[in-house]
Amino acid sequence: MEENKTTDGNVEVSKNFIEEIIDNDIAEGKITTTVTRFPPEPNGYLHIGHAKSLCINFGVKEKYHGRCNLRFDDTNPVKEDEEYVESIKEDIEWLGFKWDEMLYASDYFDKMYDCAVGLIKKGLAYVCDLTADEIRDTRGTLVEPGKNSPYRDRSVEENLKLFTEMKEGKYADGEKVLRAKIDMASPNLNMRDPVIYRIVHASHHNTGDKWCIYPMYDFAHPIEDAIEGITHSLCTLEFEDHRPLYDWVVDNCDFEAKPRQIEFARLNITDTVMSKRFLKKLVEDKFVEGWDDPRMPTLCGIRRRGYPAEAVRDFCERVGVAKANSEIEQSYLEACVRDNLNKTADRAMVVFDPIKVVITNYEGSEILSVENNPNAEEMTYRQVRFSNEIYIERGDFEIVPPPKYHRLKPDGYVRLKGAYIVKCDGYETDENGKVTLVRCSYLPESKSGHDESGVKVKGVVQWVDANDNARVTVRKISNLLLPAVDGVTDFTQRLNPDSMKVVTAVAESSLKSAPVGARFQFMRSGYFVVDKNTTPDNVVFNEIVELKDSFNNK
Ligand code: ATP
Ligand code: MG
Repeated sequence: MEENKTTDGNVEVSKNFIEEIIDNDIAEGKITTTVTRFPPEPNGYLHIGHAKSLCINFGVKEKYHGRCNLRFDDTNPVKEDEEYVESIKEDIEWLGFKWDEMLYASDYFDKMYDCAVGLIKKGLAYVCDLTADEIRDTRGTLVEPGKNSPYRDRSVEENLKLFTEMKEGKYADGEKVLRAKIDMASPNLNMRDPVIYRIVHASHHNTGDKWCIYPMYDFAHPIEDAIEGITHSLCTLEFEDHRPLYDWVVDNCDFEAKPRQIEFARLNITDTVMSKRFLKKLVEDKFVEGWDDPRMPTLCGIRRRGYPAEAVRDFCERVGVAKANSEIEQSYLEACVRDNLNKTADRAMVVFDPIKVVITNYEGSEILSVENNPNAEEMTYRQVRFSNEIYIERGDFEIVPPPKYHRLKPDGYVRLKGAYIVKCDGYETDENGKVTLVRCSYLPESKSGHDESGVKVKGVVQWVDANDNARVTVRKISNLLLPAVDGVTDFTQRLNPDSMKVVTAVAESSLKSAPVGARFQFMRSGYFVVDKNTTPDNVVFNEIVELKDSFNNK
């Protein structure tokens, strides 16, 4: 939903095309409330594309005070697994959606079978002995009609007998199928006597060995929707051509409720691939640590990466609902994450490439209170130890600085975040000229929050106490795929070998006790989350997103 200001200053909420259709259906008295469903096939983990479908289906529920079911579309016995069912539930809950009913399409197998028998009795379905190849070869093309199957005119009795035998296991896989009898000359190929039941001798995760015939998606889906009283069956654009078949099944199976299929554009994001087949390959070939590897576009991967659920929902909202396919820039999602974390993530000081700074006129140590997040609604503070030996980032000291350099340089001043202003009095190098130590003096009157030194400095740098800190592991993450190259369609040739770089860093010691999932802004660097690989003596962080949008900087 977008908000637009009207000329009289009122906020007018502009509707997406799905909401317009629903409003019309309500105005015309076709429905009083909405029932939608999210129908994943439990054959893999959910990804960011599914988040869009979830936001749309549950968004309709919230907007119209309707209902939304979670339905596992488990009509294919071969590829599905209980492991995926659990992960799907967890991911939906993480996004913050609550389904009304949790259902399995396979619970309707009896009803679907009855529907098929009903079609046979009406002369609208027949058992066909052509092989899959023959069916494809006689289907015709966009410019040529198909050829009728030689089995098309079997009698109702014969069809009933054969279909019963199919169910009873008399035939092998592929030996026979049940086809809807529609029109082999239809301009829509999906209407050319589509297969609606096939033989698969395989155990099903829910129904076991009860069935050896399984309904095809195009036959099963409208029945599932009709049984549940779905008012609007929201799906992606590739099903637009299937809508006439969807309506045909609903009408000819004599359902009173008429669910309405509406198609919207899939979500595609640059330099990622969301198809389950590809994601599975990455996992199986061990290119990633697993489905929840923080580089993966799966919802569990995104969660482990530290993306907040609110940011993912915000992204889906901003992308909107469109009827045309497009590819969204990765940086757009990152911007949503950054907006969220800027308000919610506590700041922490971490130094990746330390140089030691000795503050020669400071004695002992003290505990400073440093603000956690300047953008938080309520200011909170954490305790950070400060002493005469600290680390700063190597890049924050230059012997021969470029013009307008505001960080530390010989005879220059800089503020240590949350602490004091220091002045550089000298430095030491090794035989290669690499700086090994910087000597400073501090201005005692310059303590943060009580600065009476009168000295104005432009640069503020983060630091870590050299004798009280945590050594942490940081996994810097970039895109799984390198930018597209013309002519390369095999994604495995675009895998980015540097998509995860592991480095160590020194962090303020408060991070030692940060729980898994806690998110921080490492000052002047980026946002990071505590990973589940953390052990008592090693905190592991994943980079969530850089502080600045490097894409726009380029
Ligand atoms: P994949 O091609 O990744 O395997 P799928 O469409 O087969 O995805 P399903 O489990 O069948 O996955 O999808 C459940 C729902 O999510 C469907 O309604 C589907 O249209 C929707 N969906 C899947 N991918 C996207 C996407 N990229 N954008 C929007 N909706 C999607
Ligand atoms: Mg699918």
